[in-house]
Amino acid sequence: MKRILITGGAGFIGSHLCERLLNDGNDVICLDNFFTGSKINIVHLLDHPYFELVRHDVTQSYYAEVDEIYNLACPASPIHYQYNPIKTVKTSVMGAINMLGLAKRIKAKILQASTSEVYGDPAVHPQPETYWGNVNPVGKRSCYDEGKRCAETLFTDYNIQNQVKIKILRIFNTYGPKMHPNDGRVVSNFIVQALKNQDITIYGNGSQTRSFQYVDDLIDGMIRMMKTPDEVTGPVNIGNPQEFTILELAEKIIELTDSRSKIVYETLPEDDPIQRKPDITLAHEVLNGWSPKVELEEGLKSTITYFTETI
Ligand code: NAD
Ligand code: UDP
Repeated sequence: MKRILITGGAGFIGSHLCERLLNDGNDVICLDNFFTGSKINIVHLLDHPYFELVRHDVTQSYYAEVDEIYNLACPASPIHYQYNPIKTVKTSVMGAINMLGLAKRIKAKILQASTSEVYGDPAVHPQPETYWGNVNPVGKRSCYDEGKRCAETLFTDYNIQNQVKIKILRIFNTYGPKMHPNDGRVVSNFIVQALKNQDITIYGNGSQTRSFQYVDDLIDGMIRMMKTPDEVTGPVNIGNPQEFTILELAEKIIELTDSRSKIVYETLPEDDPIQRKPDITLAHEVLNGWSPKVELEEGLKSTITYFTETI
């Protein structure tokens, strides 16, 4: 049995990871400050004898004896990470320093939930890990993008300077059950709007693209990444390369929910990336043949069922 710390464990991805790692027979500590996460996501795990919930902020140091750390603490939706941008930078950077310091002291392996946002508004398409990105350092998204880029730097330097065993995963747009209905990201927004027959809000003209990964595929990839040999440090892209325009996504969700919603067009937010699609060649190679299994329609159906039951 391994002891595993998951920061941001009460969030969307973190709660799936807690559940999966517990089911695999591990002892799990879920650490969260509940900024965007919620006890509701992990309430069903609270009675599990090997599950522990800790209310804590990663900007403060934390100590526990564990074998592995998954560092997920950070708001991920633009509306939430822009709410208090200074705090977002502190969460990414001080959170990384605190968790890397812990990993160094207790000799734990540590995985960083990095992001496709490190590529900014990419000029190279699809994005391989070798691409350095096109990021505005002083824009609305910078607190998140640069915070995550600095965290990657810290992880790399702790590995080189202090031999900490690190793993960096660059996660592309992921969706699924347990997203917060007011999370603000596109899949949850559109599904909630469609189920309530409200207007579907497309920002811009809907021609911008994203590639959507279902959460189960991500969790499988994260666990595989943690098991890779020490020399596999990443960064490794993890996502589903099937690319859709935001208009196509809206139309698909209207069809699957049989909704009477109408599409309305609103202003495109500042620095909103025009296109995004992962090159997952490296993931396939180092994660033991990993590739995403869940098609968009199938994943959307499960997510729609979840929101139908919860909102
Ligand atoms: P989320 O907002 O649901 O989860 C983030 C969790 O971190 C929440 O539970 C929140 O309360 C917690 N948190 C925030 N600040 C904290 C702090 N200072 N101390 C302790 N806990 C804190 O978002 P998510 O989609 O589950 O994202 C999880 C991680 O994955 C994030 O690091 C995010 O950047 C990364 N990621 C997600 C996506 C995606 O598409 N979902 C894509 C790329 C990267
Ligand atoms: N988007 C949209 N309507 C919404 C929410 C998002 O058109 O109600 C767009 C947004 O402008 C972006 C894309 O959908 O182009 C993905 O947005 P999200 O916030 O989910 O993720 P990110 O921009 O971080 O990839």
